[in-house]
Amino acid sequence: MSIDSAGLKRMFDAIAVAIEADKDRLCQLDGVIGDADHGIAMALGFNAVRDALAPLDLAATEPTALLNTAAKSFLNAVGASSGPLYATAFMRAAAAVKGKTTLADGDVVALFQAMAQGIRDRGKAEIGEKTMIDAWQPAADAAGASNAAGKTLAESLRAALAAAEHGAEATKDMIAVKGRSSRLGERSLGHIDPGAASAVTVISAMRDSFA
Ligand code: ADP
Ligand code: MG
Repeated sequence: MSIDSAGLKRMFDAIAVAIEADKDRLCQLDGVIGDADHGIAMALGFNAVRDALAPLDLAATEPTALLNTAAKSFLNAVGASSGPLYATAFMRAAAAVKGKTTLADGDVVALFQAMAQGIRDRGKAEIGEKTMIDAWQPAADAAGASNAAGKTLAESLRAALAAAEHGAEATKDMIAVKGRSSRLGERSLGHIDPGAASAVTVISAMRDSFA
C-alpha cells in the first residue's frame, strides 16, 4: 500500500468524523476525573485540522507539510492539555516522513510510532500513570512489532488498535499521576482515562482509513 497526501487528508477527515461522534462520551469520561471538556477539545482540534487541510492543493503538498499544517491548526484551536500533546504528535509525524511524497506501509508505521513518541516526550508520562500514553505506547509497540514481522499496514494497525483498547481499559485500575486528574489521587481509580479513550477512537479511525 502507498499513502500520499490525499490519503493522509482522508485519514484526518475520518478522525474528525469519529471524534465528533464520540464527543459526548469523551466529555462524560472527563467529567468524572477531569473538567468535562475532553470531547470538546478533541472535536475543536480535529475540526480545525479538517478546515486547515481542506483548501490545500494536495498535488503540491508533501506529507510533511500537510502534517505540520495539522499540528499548527490543532495547537491553535485547543487550549486544553491535549492541544500541545497532539500537536507534538503531528509535528513528529511530519519529521518522520520528511522528503517523502508517498508513504509505504513501513513509513506509516514509523509515522504512527513518532506520534506516540511525541506525546510521550511532550507530556513526560510513563506507562501506568493513567494518560493517553497507556493507549498510545502499547499501540505503537504493537504496530512496530507487527511491521517488523512483515505484516501489512492494515494488520499492523489492527494490532495497534487491539493494544490501544487493552491499554485504555487498563487505565481503570490506575491512579492518575499526570495532568488534571492527578489531583484526585486514589479517587481516580475505577474510571477510564478520557485521553486514553479518545486515543482508541483516533487509532480506530486511522485503521479504518487505511483498511
Ligand atoms: P485538560 O486536562 O487540560 O482539560 P483534556 O481534557 O483535553 O485536557 O485532556 C485530558 C487528557 O490529557 C487526560 O485524560 C490524559 O490522557 C491526557 N494528559 C494529561 N496530561 C498528560 C501528560 N502529561 N502526558 C500525556 N497525556 C496527558
Ligand atoms: Mg479536560
